[in-house]
Amino acid sequence: MNLYIDGYRSHNKELFRALENAAFDYAEILLGKRMTKHIQLEIKLTKDLKKKEKAYGFCHIIGDDLNKPREFMIELDASMKWDFAQILTWLAHEMVHLKQFVKKELFDYEYGATQWKSRAYSKKVHYDDQPWEKEAYRLEGELYEMFEENYE
Ligand SMILES: [Zn+2]
Repeated sequence: MNLYIDGYRSHNKELFRALENAAFDYAEILLGKRMTKHIQLEIKLTKDLKKKEKAYGFCHIIGDDLNKPREFMIELDASMKWDFAQILTWLAHEMVHLKQFVKKELFDYEYGATQWKSRAYSKKVHYDDQPWEKEAYRLEGELYEMFEENYE
């Protein structure tokens, strides 16, 4: 994986190192080592992302090839008030979405609908009922704990 980390607090060495290690761990758990090698990821840290965009994180496909997405940008709220555990849990959540895009479980249409596995969902499906969000919430804590147990 080619990993870039920039933005707010990215000069904080401890945060940088934790994000770097966690991103690789999560990717290898979710995608396997072989696929992880083909991924390009930029983690962009933003101050007050939640206030500005109403979310703690986003995962965007940035490459042109939507049929075979390999380039991504994950944006995270890295405001000072959040501790590492929180930021790394949001990273785990967004990495689940990255996995969903890579494995083509999740696909966003330009007209606004979302394809999940073999079904299309309208934009109006409530956030809590979106199966890709359920999976991300289910896995984020487990992923973080697996990472945290082995991290010094
Ligand atoms: Zn999500």
